[in-house]
Amino acid sequence: MRDKCEVKFIRPKAYVLSIIFSFMFFLGIQLYCINFGLNAESASGNMTSEKLVVLNFDDGRESQFVHAKPILDKYGFKATFYIVCNYVENKPGFMDWKEIKELYDEGNDIGSHSMNHAHLSKLSKKEVKFEVGQSKKCLEDHGIKVTSFAFPFNEGSNNKEIINSVSKYYELARTAGSPLTYLHCDGWKNQSDQNDCRTYTKNEDLTFANRYSIRGWSHDMSRIANSYTDDDLLKRFIQVVNTQTEYNKGEAIKAIPIVIYHRAGDNYAPNYNTDVDLFEREMRYLYDNNFHVISTRDLGYQEKGDYLYVKSPKDISLKGGIASVSNSN
Ligand SMILES: [Zn+2]
Repeated sequence: MRDKCEVKFIRPKAYVLSIIFSFMFFLGIQLYCINFGLNAESASGNMTSEKLVVLNFDDGRESQFVHAKPILDKYGFKATFYIVCNYVENKPGFMDWKEIKELYDEGNDIGSHSMNHAHLSKLSKKEVKFEVGQSKKCLEDHGIKVTSFAFPFNEGSNNKEIINSVSKYYELARTAGSPLTYLHCDGWKNQSDQNDCRTYTKNEDLTFANRYSIRGWSHDMSRIANSYTDDDLLKRFIQVVNTQTEYNKGEAIKAIPIVIYHRAGDNYAPNYNTDVDLFEREMRYLYDNNFHVISTRDLGYQEKGDYLYVKSPKDISLKGGIASVSNSN
């Protein structure tokens, strides 16, 4: 009797377990399918419905910390701040190390903007080395990992000696002069017929576009050049950040805007400044329209194939180049 009872007891248990296992197996397949579906969707180009923008702040001005940072924080955006090392705690109106470290520790990217904001093309080789190399060391001495350089006055990216120096210390370097940057360096058809971002041609000449001449759009220079009001500049900003949709069709991110700010809410230079309200409207636009805001360190360089790519928010595959482009600043 006892054996019989035990058998009876075990049988229903095995039966229940088999139902549970079957259900779990079924659920597992469903989850796998859902997961695979999502991955397949993103890998097959869902990313192209997303827009990216790189935000840069040059010079390390105090107003960037006081006025722009709270707005960036409000929307959860991170940017790259390019610091002039000898301005820090030496020149009024510029950030101190505590503020720079706070930006860095909170996830912003810190880049070098030289030691003294000098015109690099007017310096000796030794002086260029100091401006370029020592400024990296200066930031590193404050516990900051630096991967990119921004040319003071946007000068020097067409100079072989300067690029040789920059390339020894940095992964990437940024200048200005274009609303969009083309990740395969193939979008500036009027200036170059290159199809990749290699730094030198076969004849050892510098190429027009390479990882040490990444072009951004100078927001404040655009105001001066075009005598824009805040409303005009907001319209132009919206236009610039959306120009990428023309290129980022199909499966790849091929072009992204890099927006460069200088002063933020700084009334000492009304034309070369971004008013706080305008900055708030621009960041709100990016937030409301689901832009992914990234910093320069989110860009990588693929040695095999010589092209730039976006490391985050996801690894995005890049295929092919683009046909043509015509953009003015
Ligand atoms: Zn500058």
